[in-house]
Amino acid sequence: MKSIDLTRIKDRSLGEMLNVFYVCQKCRVVDSDHGRLEEGYRCAACGDPSNAGWSYFSTQVFSLITLMQGFYHTRQDIPDEFGEKQDQWWAGRIKLPVIIFFTTLRELLLNNLIDELFTARKIESDICERLLKDSPTHKQRLDKLFQTLTGEKWEAALKAIDLKENTKLVNLDKFIMQVVTARNDFLHAGNTWAVKDQLADECIRNLYSMLDLHAHLHNWFVAPLYAWELAVNIEKEEKA
Ligand SMILES: [Zn+2]
Repeated sequence: MKSIDLTRIKDRSLGEMLNVFYVCQKCRVVDSDHGRLEEGYRCAACGDPSNAGWSYFSTQVFSLITLMQGFYHTRQDIPDEFGEKQDQWWAGRIKLPVIIFFTTLRELLLNNLIDELFTARKIESDICERLLKDSPTHKQRLDKLFQTLTGEKWEAALKAIDLKENTKLVNLDKFIMQVVTARNDFLHAGNTWAVKDQLADECIRNLYSMLDLHAHLHNWFVAPLYAWELAVNIEKEEKA
């Protein structure tokens, strides 16, 4: 999937195409092992037989991706009155929604990770609500709440995963910040020039990497909490 240029996919739903991350219902490890779709297939991490594949990401995630794909490939006629003054916004495909949806996807994925951490850590719902209220913006959730729930800073976590798993999450994060800056330049200064065609291309090209980033974060911070619980339960059963 990494080697496919996703900007070239037009006739297939990108959301369906990228729905390749499955989670083990027992140890909660996420990977792209298609075998998990088969009932009884044994998880490579814990050996538990599969219940025929749980998609890790929600349908919201894939709907958003397919929506981005739709906008990316939409061509818009340039109104006559724009004449010579047409800027990049009108120059061809509609790029701005791709940028906006990409940053929405980023928010959706972080909120999903936070929800998972709340559940895995068995944090009571009133406390979850308070924590979310204390960090209402994406930036606060990334800088503060993520660290509260994982014990690590966002950048340090990405660096640690890159080092251990030979990924390029730090680079991806830099790209994401570039997209966020372009979006903010548009929202706050009305600067449509901030949205370059190339940036939208890269948003589409990085969709798989965005999901992969979150699969890594899940395996790094969420799955171990379940593995630990499993180990405790096995120990209890053995003693009984
Ligand atoms: Zn497993």
